[in-house]
Amino acid sequence: MSDVSVLRLESVRKTFGGSVVLRDVDLEVAPHTVTALIGASGSGKSTLLRCANLLEEIDDGAIWLDGEEITDPDADQDAVRRRIGVVFQAYNLFPHMTVLDNVTLAPRRVHGVPRAEAEERARELLERLGLAEKADAYPDRLSGGQQQRAAIVRALAVRPRLLLLDEITAALDPELVGEVLDVVRGLKDEGMTMVLATHEMGFARDVADQVCFLDGGVVLERGTAEQVFADPRRERTRRFLRRVV
Ligand code: ADP
Ligand code: MG
Repeated sequence: MSDVSVLRLESVRKTFGGSVVLRDVDLEVAPHTVTALIGASGSGKSTLLRCANLLEEIDDGAIWLDGEEITDPDADQDAVRRRIGVVFQAYNLFPHMTVLDNVTLAPRRVHGVPRAEAEERARELLERLGLAEKADAYPDRLSGGQQQRAAIVRALAVRPRLLLLDEITAALDPELVGEVLDVVRGLKDEGMTMVLATHEMGFARDVADQVCFLDGGVVLERGTAEQVFADPRRERTRRFLRRVV
């Protein structure tokens, strides 16, 4: 396998209290591509993303970021996390801080960017994602969609190499889903490398270069969006897609 992948998992195994949650998971994410993780609730999508960000320790296998083995005991975990942006389903923003302070927190505290520079960059990003006028608002004054867009801005503020998005539209009212997915499409157009867990099959089909179907902690099927959605090889994939599409 080439070492140019942004992210690479090899034979990753993860257990929780004896039960296997990820089994022999291989994954390769090329630069400037979008990988969609699909599968039923409990299939291991979030755990995979958490392992990739070193929020969970794996039991076996190895993970590389930009060719560096990040699961090596000597790897600098904080440095690794600084190169990965993460957005979860909900509760992403600190409620007691303005949007601007939320966005500039990590660049200032973790990356040592001076306040003026961090704020200039934050306002630029907020503008790009249509949130310029929300910079000084507190999160509870924003709609769910605006909050998720602000959470994406916050993840982008540290100029991550890789963005991990875990069902970022799952907690939103249906009419707010589109504006968040549009942001992800825009990031793809700009060349951001992303891995996203999603239940939005139409979106995954539309935006993903690679689709992985997880079933019981196993990547049961993978391919281009066209392959997996139009011509799934496995009966289980077909059954899952019939249920959710
Ligand atoms: P998904 O995101 O696809 O819904 P998860 O990765 O959240 O799946 O969960 C996969 C399996 O791992 C589930 O059976 C879940 O109950 C279990 N699991 C996840 N996190 C933990 C944890 N911290 N402790 C114990 N079991 C967990
Ligand atoms: Mg999940």
